[in-house]
Amino acid sequence: MSGGTLGVTHSKGEDFPEWYVEVVRKGEFVDQRTPVRGCDVIMPWGYGVWERITEFADRLFKERGVKNAYFPALIPESLLKKEAEHFAGFTPEVAWVTEAGDSKLGERLALRPTSETIMYYMFSQWVRSYRDLPLRINQWTNVFRWETKATRPFLRSREFLWQEGHTVHATLEEADQEVREMIKTYKKIFEELAALPALVLQRTESDKFAGALYSVAFDTFVPEAGRALQIGTVHNLGQNFAKAFGIKFLDRDGNEKYAWQTSWGISTRLIGAILAVHGDDRGAVLPPKVAPVQVVVIPIVFKGKEAETVQKATEIGKRLEKMGVRVEVDSRDEYTAGWKFNHWELKGVPLRIEVGPRDMEKGGVTYARRDTGEKGFVKETELEKVVAILDDIQANLFKRAQKRLDEGIVTLGELEQVKDAISRKKIARTFWCGDPRCEERIKEETGGEIRGIKFGDGENADGESCVVCGKRAKHVVYVAKSY
Ligand SMILES: [Zn+2]
Repeated sequence: MSGGTLGVTHSKGEDFPEWYVEVVRKGEFVDQRTPVRGCDVIMPWGYGVWERITEFADRLFKERGVKNAYFPALIPESLLKKEAEHFAGFTPEVAWVTEAGDSKLGERLALRPTSETIMYYMFSQWVRSYRDLPLRINQWTNVFRWETKATRPFLRSREFLWQEGHTVHATLEEADQEVREMIKTYKKIFEELAALPALVLQRTESDKFAGALYSVAFDTFVPEAGRALQIGTVHNLGQNFAKAFGIKFLDRDGNEKYAWQTSWGISTRLIGAILAVHGDDRGAVLPPKVAPVQVVVIPIVFKGKEAETVQKATEIGKRLEKMGVRVEVDSRDEYTAGWKFNHWELKGVPLRIEVGPRDMEKGGVTYARRDTGEKGFVKETELEKVVAILDDIQANLFKRAQKRLDEGIVTLGELEQVKDAISRKKIARTFWCGDPRCEERIKEETGGEIRGIKFGDGENADGESCVVCGKRAKHVVYVAKSY
């Protein structure tokens, strides 16, 4: 299936955008050679990563009492318009269906850019009493955002896969609590599964989700690009949508009240983040927990010992499989061992095991770690050590990414310094008075933007001055370029 030169030709540090596209294509995660630009094919290897994400996330959602459902992809314009801010926020990138066969439709239908409107139209018919609450519904589906900017596989595409969770509650406190719980859940997915550290930031008023009371987002960091990358969001929608769609319930006190809502989502963008953050000049580096294949076993054949070596490699593969490891034994004889090394490195398989005559004589196998390149030997009688090595790779990738995120943040008090830091591919931690005009100035002057204020523990800006106007600062903010 692969075409062109094997191996990555661009350097991640020197030319990140080209490097990224090359890894995605040559690693067979995505094929962009489709008839509609920005609507890409997610290849089996890329989809395998998505399957690991969906399995892990779906289990956590269900533990929280979330139920899966499916809502229609087509949303009438009148429905999309019901919440004014929401409509204004999404209109520029909505794709419309205007005709059926030869006749024009009476009302144009949007291909869902997100499903608040269609879901809440239904919720208003489902929610009657406090007994119906809380309501927690999720769907795993595709959405369309007709991007006019340059598209980039996984990071910015016109059609992508995601999950969108939508909950309905009796009180603001319960909705706030739901936001906190979902932040914990997402943190687990990002850190434990994807090995991605992230800043948990409350977006500013100008940057929050269209129609939300407030938005909290997870930003991971790609040092080579000097960009923050949003990998998940949790919104407290307040009562804005409940009022627009008439989601009301009869409370215990006998009064009819508007409900409080939240929504939250992660998408295939997470795959892009995994590639962008962990990858190196040899290609993708997949954390074991998301890797479709965790260990590739490669027989190193010598004349006269072919059958014996392949047989041993197959046996090793079977034993690892029994330990719960996802294994591929690559015994294709039309490729050299060297070609196979490059091929599986490019695809990001966490661990390679070589079975050669010398290893067999010594009663074991040689391994090579994808994250560090480190090589070692494991005795056949101690094959379970492979599981521990995979755990160590998973932990090491998170630690490495966390260190690079920490090192990427610099605290600065002058606008010139912030500008300089952004140009040096850093995240600037600085101080802001809260005035949208100062926020705008930061954007104009530095090329970065305020990504938000740390959510929850709220960092203290006491005694600091706004980086733009010099007035008393209200917030510690993080400024960066982003995708
Ligand atoms: Zn200011």
